[in-house]
Amino acid sequence: MNEFKPVQFVDVALEGQFWRERLETVLTRTIPSQHVQLGKHGILQSLTLPNPPPLSSPRNQHNFVQMFWDSDAGKWIEAASYALSHRPEADIEARIEKIVDDLENAQAPDGYLNCWYLQREPDKRWTNLRDNHELYNLGHLLEGGIAYFLATGRRRLLDILERYVDHVRKTFGPNPGQKHGYCGHQEIELALVKLYRLTGEKKHLDLAAYFINERGRQPHYFDQEAAARGERPRDCWAKRYEYNQSHRPVREQTKVVGHAVRAMYMFSAMADLAAELNDDSLKKACEVLWADVMTSKIYITSGLGPAAANEGFTEGHDLPNDTAYAETCASVALIFWAHRMLHLDLDGRYADVMEQALFNGALTGLSRDGEHYFYSNPLDSDGRHSRWAWHICPCCTMNSSRLIASVGGYFVSASEDAIAFHLYGGISTNIRLATGNVFLRETSAYPSFGSIRIEVSPDAPAEFTVKLRIPGWAHEAEASVGGYPVDVTACTRNGYLSISRLWNAGDTIALELPMSPERIYAHPSVKQDIGRVALKRGPLVYCVEEVDNPGGRVQRLKLPRDARIETVERGDLFDGVVTLTASAQRVEDQGWGDSLYRNAPPIASDCRLTALPYYLWNNRAKGSMQVWLLES
Ligand SMILES: [Zn+2]
Repeated sequence: MNEFKPVQFVDVALEGQFWRERLETVLTRTIPSQHVQLGKHGILQSLTLPNPPPLSSPRNQHNFVQMFWDSDAGKWIEAASYALSHRPEADIEARIEKIVDDLENAQAPDGYLNCWYLQREPDKRWTNLRDNHELYNLGHLLEGGIAYFLATGRRRLLDILERYVDHVRKTFGPNPGQKHGYCGHQEIELALVKLYRLTGEKKHLDLAAYFINERGRQPHYFDQEAAARGERPRDCWAKRYEYNQSHRPVREQTKVVGHAVRAMYMFSAMADLAAELNDDSLKKACEVLWADVMTSKIYITSGLGPAAANEGFTEGHDLPNDTAYAETCASVALIFWAHRMLHLDLDGRYADVMEQALFNGALTGLSRDGEHYFYSNPLDSDGRHSRWAWHICPCCTMNSSRLIASVGGYFVSASEDAIAFHLYGGISTNIRLATGNVFLRETSAYPSFGSIRIEVSPDAPAEFTVKLRIPGWAHEAEASVGGYPVDVTACTRNGYLSISRLWNAGDTIALELPMSPERIYAHPSVKQDIGRVALKRGPLVYCVEEVDNPGGRVQRLKLPRDARIETVERGDLFDGVVTLTASAQRVEDQGWGDSLYRNAPPIASDCRLTALPYYLWNNRAKGSMQVWLLES
């Protein structure tokens, strides 16, 4: 366990152009428009008891989704509260207060508060934890209530939810008469840890630990619960308990399996509990699972879970590109997990993955206009894949907004005598060390360029350490303090360059992270990527899109092994972006005729290939896209 704690997003000012633009878009467009969509789709009305909105159709699929609507309201409150932390807005606050009114009105006298069950099936509470997300819903509401309290000091929602948590604590636990269960969709555990950190009340941490420790034990709770419903356990629609990671106790799990978002939320909670309880067995389990994901189950974009059938994982090295599910929520949740692992061990490997997931897996989920969303994130599209204005299961939409609205919280951590920078992109913050306050301003055009300046200004001269992450992709990084070079190789350990000295106001660190375009190849066991190459520059994965490469589907492009990859600054695109170009070839069908097969290969014509960062694709015209290019 390490001594570093994250600096909270409210204490970090985003000053760089890249994140200012994303944050402004989320604050001014995404969060307000999400509230409109929640109203348009009946989600806000579903909280207004006793008048349930009509059931959606077709019944079987959409009714199922409707059971999760409390969570969507909770996630919106969380994102909207982060917006309020950035700047008060009476309209947003009034919208949250209306939801709080509805929840207060809906809450049962015993504290129970699940709008679906209260309206539709009041006698069936807690009868199907495996499928019906009651505790998951509470988790997201609770995260929303905590964020709202922190933003405004208003605690009515928090009080409502603490009453509900008390009810849950009476209902679940090891004692006779209590249910020995846990939620099929992990999430409540994360929220309870947050509640513990807010209140200091250990009972919340204990309940989170109970849910994690109970998971997967025999006799299996979901078997007993199914039998009590008069069902055969094996009739579970997901067929296997791997789906929700309850196939064995969490400390015995060595391979990541099942639904990707559930897995990432659970691993995040395990890392939280490992930190809070100093539990080495949970930390070890996280490390083993981390290794499994990173060595065989993560896309280059940090998408997770190739299969739509279980919204999750299959075997190792099974990473199809065109059918990749890679749910946006899973990449967002990977950021949560990586951030927590980073605070168990300050190791740049975790920050590398956090950054990779942020720029490539998560940002892709939200359109440039801030009002369209990817649920799945393929790495190869024939042009039919496009962002939605809304999704019948809108989980990803508010995972994007709550992440971006709080992204400042991922940049810096501090201990008593050290400051660690994980991400760059233009921030300022004040950090209180044992020696006093330090003002820091990091200035850069990251992720487009790797020249970084950091002003370190203690209120009074003081000795402490500044640690700078040297990303795994950065070869031959250079650094200096006040113009005097620092030996980066000698002073870097576990991915962080440490500079310990007596700091004076106005001292400046210069860090140069070279960002040459790189060719990346996949392990030969990834059959879909054999003979293919991906392009990367700095933290950004690139793709080719038809709008930049006219002449038909981009799947016909071939990049010669020896072609020089050049960078081009395009001030005209998306407020400025660096594209990559290279001489390439396009396979033609000219003169081929009608026959499906023939002896002679097709001709290939010379062309110029243009690639842009993957997170920006599908923001201009519809068209084909590819990350892994044929290499000739
Ligand atoms: Zn999702």
